[in-house]
Amino acid sequence: MGLTALLENEVVLVSSIDEGDLRKASRGNNLSCHFCLERIVYKHGQIKIPHFAHYTRNPDCDLSNETLEHLSGKLFMMKILPKYNTLTALTVEKIHDRRIYDVYAEMGSAKIAVELQHTVVSSESIEEKINHASQSSIHVLYVLIPGKGYLNYETSRVEGRIIVKESELYLHRTYFGRVYYTNTQSIQSAHFLPATTYVEGREWYDSSGNQNSGGGYEKNLKSRRNLQWFYVFKHPETHRLRLTMNGDVRIATLSEGVFWKK
Ligand SMILES: [Zn+2]
Repeated sequence: MGLTALLENEVVLVSSIDEGDLRKASRGNNLSCHFCLERIVYKHGQIKIPHFAHYTRNPDCDLSNETLEHLSGKLFMMKILPKYNTLTALTVEKIHDRRIYDVYAEMGSAKIAVELQHTVVSSESIEEKINHASQSSIHVLYVLIPGKGYLNYETSRVEGRIIVKESELYLHRTYFGRVYYTNTQSIQSAHFLPATTYVEGREWYDSSGNQNSGGGYEKNLKSRRNLQWFYVFKHPETHRLRLTMNGDVRIATLSEGVFWKK
């Protein structure tokens, strides 16, 4: 599903066309995907958000495989980015160099892409996308949508801790110790803490009869590096983009407001 379609050789946004015209174009087989060019249809009703869907699912097209949450995430970013940033361009499902960027914005000469990720992907594919965008001077902000693998409390909870995926660890390194998540209503950033285990305190007597004691502390779990606590900052509510570099790749982060209790 997506928010854009090709109508009479023009990419149109679902919200920018009159609903009656869209239904007519849909019935008349006049809508196509601007990425894979296959037939798409207009849908509105069964689920609340008006959107476009491929007439027959195309597993090779990223726009065909999107979830409703992914779609909601894009709409949310489209709403908050202009609220907190002075943008000179803002589009959704931007195709650039055979890749689709979920949300694409410009602030003067700076280019920013926001990637929303719902299904779990490898760190290699995220790295490839960030590197590729960086070569076109695009700063990428990755935002994960929990539930379908990321931060899934039911399937990734072990001993009260959350097991994060290796792509989350990659993002944690890339974004200077932050991973951004959205429930499509707000954004929160998480910081992973090292996984530790508690070493029980104990006492013993050595061969000379002296009393010794040890333990009673938290020890890092080297063998279980992917087991992480995470700590969520609840106040990144400014959503102001910060464009920066990490090594030789361009990334975008969100500045977090500091709120003092009154
Ligand atoms: Zn397509």
